[in-house]
Amino acid sequence: MIVKRRTIPLRILIDEALLRRLPPNHPKRAVILQDLMIRRAGLKGEQDLDYYINLLHENDFHIFQNIRLPFGKTYFQIDFLLLSSSLILLIEAKNMPGILEFDTRLNQVLRTHNDKLESYEDPILQVKRQREQLKRWLKDRNFPSIPIEFIVAYSNSASILKNPGNDREVYERICKAGKLVFKIEEYRNKCKNEILPEKEVKKLSKQLLKSHEPEGSHLHLFSIDPADILPGVQCQSCGHIPMLRYSARWHCAYCGSTSKDAHEQAIRDYFFLISPYISTKKFKEFLFLPTRKMAADLVLKMGLQSKGGKRNRVYTLS
Ligand SMILES: [Zn+2]
Repeated sequence: MIVKRRTIPLRILIDEALLRRLPPNHPKRAVILQDLMIRRAGLKGEQDLDYYINLLHENDFHIFQNIRLPFGKTYFQIDFLLLSSSLILLIEAKNMPGILEFDTRLNQVLRTHNDKLESYEDPILQVKRQREQLKRWLKDRNFPSIPIEFIVAYSNSASILKNPGNDREVYERICKAGKLVFKIEEYRNKCKNEILPEKEVKKLSKQLLKSHEPEGSHLHLFSIDPADILPGVQCQSCGHIPMLRYSARWHCAYCGSTSKDAHEQAIRDYFFLISPYISTKKFKEFLFLPTRKMAADLVLKMGLQSKGGKRNRVYTLS
């Protein structure tokens, strides 16, 4: 059963909002686009594994998709955490096209792709670190020591995996997505002793869910001048900013498209990029609305949560 479902990461939503609202020649666009591509590939790798993990029996595991747990002053993040009474299984999703050679002696993966040779961190080492962190996390919360196993699954059918050193651990821990359920089955057969009674599994499951902390905004990393963020409603057909509101609709002067609710995305962009709160005055300015009444009506229709008294009222996402 899926206890925690993945949501679209905030970083992706922020990158997309930035690319909508920075001028076409803005110097930061290239680095934002690159960040977005990497994040989207990672997300796709995880989504592609869903199909295989859904093949498991509903009652086999409590499944957590993309869980992020506190560890001292930092956090550790796991693509899939599968919990049962006898075992915890960590699954790391990788979406990486090209020829990948695993070198566990020097803890690196060499990737050849588009005639370029690059080095990446050994994913086995990466998940082993997560396993140690999770062990400590469980110990700190007085849960009994339960076997923690892990698998790294490559979802991209275009990846060619190579194990030139014939390393046993690589064969054991790394697989293509198609083999994932069989690998999971192997580990289930290896760890059959019940360590946690059903009641304890439920308790741990609840605690994991409660401890999950979503990733915060990374906007500050780009050091963008807020004045560079373009205001206005964007046309969803052609990308033109701003659309103008009259006759109860948004109109694009560029392509002629109309929309009733195109402002909703603009306001979400405002929350991501400028401030988590907006006043009616700012709402009117950001959307280039001709009257305060129109702003007040649209704020009301969006069902935003309000804060503060009549004079200093602001709205936020509920
Ligand atoms: Zn348009």
